Amino acid sequence: MTEKPIPPVDPWTKPYWDAAREHKLLLQFCPRCSKHIFYPRRYCPDCNSDQLEWVESAGVGKVYAFTVVRNNAPSAFIGDIPYVVAVVRLDEGVQMMTNIVDCDLDLVQSGMPVEVVFEKLTDEITLPKFRPVSDQAGRS
Ligand SMILES: [Zn+2]
Repeated sequence: MTEKPIPPVDPWTKPYWDAAREHKLLLQFCPRCSKHIFYPRRYCPDCNSDQLEWVESAGVGKVYAFTVVRNNAPSAFIGDIPYVVAVVRLDEGVQMMTNIVDCDLDLVQSGMPVEVVFEKLTDEITLPKFRPVSDQAGRS
């Protein structure tokens, strides 16, 4: 079985991964546009400013879209089946591709409030994932 791919750490993404290891979700913020930015970049996608700041996200949002993966070609993820791949829209306005975890997969729905949780992948990489905020979707 192959190993799961490890996200590359670049100079401009290192603060994001450093914070995730400490269970903090960081976003970039462009003061010129007054907008949050995700994924991490060197320049603001709207105004090209390189004066981006790092701010901590509240880590809450809603499922925007999702799919439940029930079958897949052989890969490092085959042992995780079934699992949820989702786009979560954070309250700060940015969207993240992620997984919904810690809930009954059949109860995941668009608009469901979710909060960030962190899953250690390696000593260097911890992945932000999301779970239902309250006791929805079968969580007690
Ligand atoms: Zn900008």
